[in-house]
Formats: sequence, C-alpha cells, structure tokens
Amino acid sequence: MTGGYILPTYARYDVCFTRGEGARLYDEGGREYIDFASGIGVNSVGHAHAAWVSAVSAQAAALAHVSNLYLTRPGAVLAERLCALAGLEAVFFANSGAEANEGMVKCARKYGAGKREGRNVIVALENSFHGRTVTTLAATGQEAFHRHFHPFTPGFRHVPLGDINALAAQPDDVCAVLLELVQGEGGVIEADRGYARAVARLCAERDWLLCVDEVQTGIGRCGAWFAFQLYGIAPDIVSFAKGIAGGLPLGGFICGKKTAATLEKGDHASTFGMNPVCCAAANAVLDILAPVLPDVPRKGEYIKSKLSAMGLSPRGLGLMLAAKAENPKETAARLLERGLAVLTAGKDALRFLPPLTIEYNEIDKGLDILRETLAETR
Ligand SMILES: *Cc1c(COP(=O)(O)O)cnc(C)c1O
Repeated sequence: MTGGYILPTYARYDVCFTRGEGARLYDEGGREYIDFASGIGVNSVGHAHAAWVSAVSAQAAALAHVSNLYLTRPGAVLAERLCALAGLEAVFFANSGAEANEGMVKCARKYGAGKREGRNVIVALENSFHGRTVTTLAATGQEAFHRHFHPFTPGFRHVPLGDINALAAQPDDVCAVLLELVQGEGGVIEADRGYARAVARLCAERDWLLCVDEVQTGIGRCGAWFAFQLYGIAPDIVSFAKGIAGGLPLGGFICGKKTAATLEKGDHASTFGMNPVCCAAANAVLDILAPVLPDVPRKGEYIKSKLSAMGLSPRGLGLMLAAKAENPKETAARLLERGLAVLTAGKDALRFLPPLTIEYNEIDKGLDILRETLAETR
C-alpha cells in the first residue's frame, strides 16, 4: 500500500494499520504497537471497545442519517448530557473541530452585532491552533500555518498567552476572546490559572464572550469533562470535537445563557451535523468514560513521574502530556519502528495523548519502548 493517489498533504509514517484493541494497534504484518497518539486525541475509549462497537453497529443498522430536518434520539440525548456535564444550555452539532469553531465564531459575531454594529473582533492567543479552514486559520495564532493562503477572514487579533494587559488594552470593537486552556498543537502549553481567571473577569466586565476551544482538551482529556472546570471559569461558549465520539467525526459548540438564543432558524446548518451514528458513538463514549474519568489525573501523574525518572521534563494536564525532545519528528518515527505511536507538539516536544482507558501495563510497555529508544539515540 503506498497511498499514491492521496493528495500528499501529510508526512505520513511508513506503516499501514489494519486493526486495534484497547491501546494497541496492529499493522498489515500483524505487528503490535502501543498507542500513545489516539489518532490525535480522538480514540478516547481506545480501539474496538465492545460497548462502543455495539452502540455504533446498532445505530448503523437502525438509522444512519436523515439530516437535521427531522429529530433523532441519539443527538437529542447527547445534547442534554453535554449541557448537564458542561453546565451550559444548548448545543450545535458539527463534524470536526474547525467546523465547531467556525460555528462558535458565527455565534460570537452575531452576539456582538446585536450589542452594537461593528463589535465583531475576536481576540485569540499567539501560538494557538483553531483549525484549517480559512476562518479558523485566521483565528490560529501561528504564522507557519498562514503561508500561501492569504487573504484571510478579517476581524481577528492576537495577544500573548499570559499577558492580561495586552487583552485589557483592546479597543471596544471586541465581541469575544477565544482561548485554548492548554495549547495542544502549539506544544502542550498550559494557561496559568490566575491568567485564565483574569481573562474571565475582563470578559464579564466588558460583555465580551468567553469562548473556550476544548476540541483537544475536552471530553475527559485533561482529567475533567472540560478543562475549564479545572480552571474554575465559566465560559459563554465551548467547542468540542476530537475525543467526543471515540473515532467517528463529530464536533460542536455548547452555548451558555448569554448565547443560547443568539443563533436562530436559518442562521447556521450542517448536512451531516448531529449524525445519529456519531451521536450514538458519543453517548457510548460518555458512558464508558464516566467511571474512567477519576483515573485520568492518576494515570497522567504516573506517566509524568516515569518521564521525570527518564530525565525528561514532562508538562501537561491529565492525559494531555508532552516532553521536550530533540528532533521530535525523527524521534517519533524511530519510536514507531520500535512499536510506540506518539505525536509531536510544536518544534521541540513529543506529545502523548493515549486513550483515556489505557491500562497501566500498556503505559509501562509504551514507556519501556520510549526509554530504550531514547537511550539508544543519546
Ligand atoms: C485539532 C484541533 C482543531 C481542529 O480540529 P479538526 O477536527 O482537525 O478540524 C481545533 N482546535 C483545537 C484546539 C484542536 O486541537
């Protein structure tokens, strides 16, 4: 298999996976790999979890799609559960992280215009990542992603993470602040609690919407259903995607009291949005994760202590972790050859997003491969 007919937009590793089981993957030759990548934080309940497979199969056999012209039960149930978990009011379902953020941007723009015409600027953070569509790239605070694709959607400004004065100095054309509480693609960089709270206070004072991008941090990844709950802040809109459906494409945003009535009939839509199979998968994910969630911080601390013992300096929250490494791309390729799938983060780190259901023996096996491989290259 070479994949020669696929547009060459990815620097793909030289492996072709055929199946998975828990936190283990198997390639065409039947070789086993430990999965510390989860398909970029997506396979939150591991591969082929029996309850997930059964929920997806049953829904596929019953009803796969009818569009949002009609109500279906899995999406209605999921929306109510997400609102309860987030303490928010109403959900819009999209199919990816970028689309979730696009919808959140539209909601914030309409809210701002309702206050005063021209109040439409969204302030995001430098080094952030919000997606690959033209508008979410405009929101993304990393120049490297912008090359070749100008012009972008106007109405975005960026301020440095942690600099509350830069935010306070913004003129009164702002409608929302957009935050990743732990910058994922930017290198697993945590926002400081005090800073996040100061941002929330400023937003409340000026009636700016506090929009939190939880596409990577959400659905248990950081050790709570949403990372904002660990920071003790109350966002107006929260987006989610990656981990929600355990491997099927689903994303969306959840609105609080201020914004639940902002988008009205005809304002936003998605043909595939609230797909019943994806929503049934997500309901299964929430069931599976409920008893697992209390272990996520413990597993994270366990991995961090072992990484420290290897002489690495780990960072991150819950099971969203990274460690500084030289030539992370090369190191990740060598780790894959030795049977461990990892991600990279920014230019200088390896990133670990194992399934939240990973077992301690799988963690140990993965870390053994990491230790041996790093020892070999030092
Ligand atoms: C991955 C990611 C996105 C983009 O999600 P896609 O599903 O790839 O569109 C947006 N925001 C954050 C924080 C992400 O980590």
